[in-house]
Amino acid sequence: MNQANTARADSPMIEITGLNKWYGDFHVLRDIDLTVAQGERIVICGPSGSGKSTLIRCINHLEEHQEGRIVVNGLPMTRDVKRIEQIRRNVGMVFQHFNLFPHLSVLDNCCISQTWVQKKPRAEAERTAMEILERVQIADQARKYPGQLSGGQQQRVAIARALCMQPEVMLFDEPTSALDPEMIKEVLDVMVELAREGMTMLCVTHEMGFAKTVADRVIFMDQGQIIEQAPPETFFNHPRSERTQLFLSQIL
Ligand code: ADP
Ligand code: MG
Repeated sequence: MNQANTARADSPMIEITGLNKWYGDFHVLRDIDLTVAQGERIVICGPSGSGKSTLIRCINHLEEHQEGRIVVNGLPMTRDVKRIEQIRRNVGMVFQHFNLFPHLSVLDNCCISQTWVQKKPRAEAERTAMEILERVQIADQARKYPGQLSGGQQQRVAIARALCMQPEVMLFDEPTSALDPEMIKEVLDVMVELAREGMTMLCVTHEMGFAKTVADRVIFMDQGQIIEQAPPETFFNHPRSERTQLFLSQIL
């Protein structure tokens, strides 16, 4: 592997310092400092509009920030297209609305970045895709199109697609929020398994059962700031800030 793509074993996977971002005049992220260790699992929660999506989208430059420093797996984020691509190769992302390519089969959704970005031969890409589709227990659907699958199945394909690129860290932006209740568990089960395997994960979610099971740290955001962060037991049983207490009383 390219040396530049590999962080030292003891260095953080993600290091964010003094991050500020504005949408026009609107100050959406305020002085965010966040360090994520390799293998650490973080859950981010907070009211709608608090900047959770914006924060994790800055990590792979789906959003551009104006102030501060973001380092992913040893690579400082710049505006350089090559650097952005390099960082994106380290970072898998799963969205609320799956964002699969509707005109491509499940298998092709999982192969396209491998063949286009990683320049893998098709046969090798297919082998990787099928292995990972097995892992998320959806290999039997490989020839179908996203529209022929349930929401839970589509989200598992989206996770598989991201994993096919062998990312160092996975970002999840409310991956179960668009799902019917009976499909939430099948997606969370895949995420729990991924956490058990040691993947570094940043998950924006209000699934507090998931947070209690797998998170090393829960972060509460409000109005563009990190208000509070703690291991789940402390976070849920002894929230310090009134804003956190209010939020928890509304969702638990
Ligand atoms: P969350 O994910 O916590 O709900 P977001 O990061 O999506 O919050 O949004 C934070 C705030 O920024 C919201 O007030 C939202 O309306 C605003 N916002 C999000 N995206 C944009 C954008 N592209 N342009 C302008 N404002 C935006
Ligand atoms: Mg959001």
